Amino acid sequence: MKAVVMREKQLRIEQLAPPRPGAGEVLVKTLACGICGSDLHMFHHCEKVLANFKRSNIPIAFDDRQDVVFGHEFCGEILDHGPGSDKRFKVGTRVCSLPFVIDAQAFHHIGYSNRYPGGYGEQMVLAEPMLLAVPGDLPADLAALTEPLTVAAHAVNRARLDGSEVPVVIGCGPIGLALIAILKSRGIGPVVAADFSPARRALAERMGADVVVDPAQQSPYTSWLQVAAPAGYDINGPMALLGLGLQPKPCVVFECVGVPGLIQQVIQHAPPRSRLIVVGVCMESDRIEPLIAIGKEMNVHFSFGYTHEEFAETLHALADGKLDGAPMITARVTLEGVNDAFATLAQPDQHAKIMITYP
Ligand SMILES: [Zn+2]
Repeated sequence: MKAVVMREKQLRIEQLAPPRPGAGEVLVKTLACGICGSDLHMFHHCEKVLANFKRSNIPIAFDDRQDVVFGHEFCGEILDHGPGSDKRFKVGTRVCSLPFVIDAQAFHHIGYSNRYPGGYGEQMVLAEPMLLAVPGDLPADLAALTEPLTVAAHAVNRARLDGSEVPVVIGCGPIGLALIAILKSRGIGPVVAADFSPARRALAERMGADVVVDPAQQSPYTSWLQVAAPAGYDINGPMALLGLGLQPKPCVVFECVGVPGLIQQVIQHAPPRSRLIVVGVCMESDRIEPLIAIGKEMNVHFSFGYTHEEFAETLHALADGKLDGAPMITARVTLEGVNDAFATLAQPDQHAKIMITYP
């Protein structure tokens, strides 16, 4: 099979032996696969990312001296079943899958594994318990958005919203855009979204953000106050801090950038008793001032991954039309275009999700 292989810090198109499904596994033909920011990160900073995962007990590991085929945001079509599989889905069924294979000995992350090639290859082996049939005629490239959209759905679930909140989304890359889509699909808002890039602000608007801010022009929290706080509310006053008098709607901030200083910025500028959900993955050490967070009784949650239920819910919301991820896809490439796509995505201004499709 043809695949884009990471080898010696390069991406090359190679012919590989097709993967063989084992017990409880299926072989699929890849129909579509998104290029994730994590793939870029892994490509450019592989040793560091793997070392950080190891220190954090995150079970994503592979030998970077051997071949790796990226791709964990995919949709495929079943070609064959391994021995001893339950054949719950017939050959020809289009499926999405959580990108994991879990056996008694190990956890494998499809797309970050020497053993399980991801969607940057024409074929993949997936685990039967992780499969979900793609409902109806949902196109494969939209179905492949299930994974990144579920990362956002999980972050929203972590926030335990009751529907009265006015959210702020900081950073409108793929995850920020996915967050806007999920929040809008659940009727939560108005949604305030902020990004320095005009292209990303335009995408945020297309995803349904109600107030889109250029932080170079205006603080996102000023915009937030305009839609969430009653007249006369002074964000820096003692009444705000004590929670007395006129109160704004609850503020929940989704941090989707992941660079040092961002968490402190939210702590500094968000109103008292805000909830901060950290979704952007910062690989550096970061510094916060607890006194300010304590004074404001800030609530900070970190969000990672998702559950099987959340994955299924997102796929069905996409199929039912309750959730629209389409504007996230800003380009489609074949395997031959992946190298250029990596170069293009290094400048975050132009694209959100580049989707690999197979002719
Ligand atoms: Zn990803």
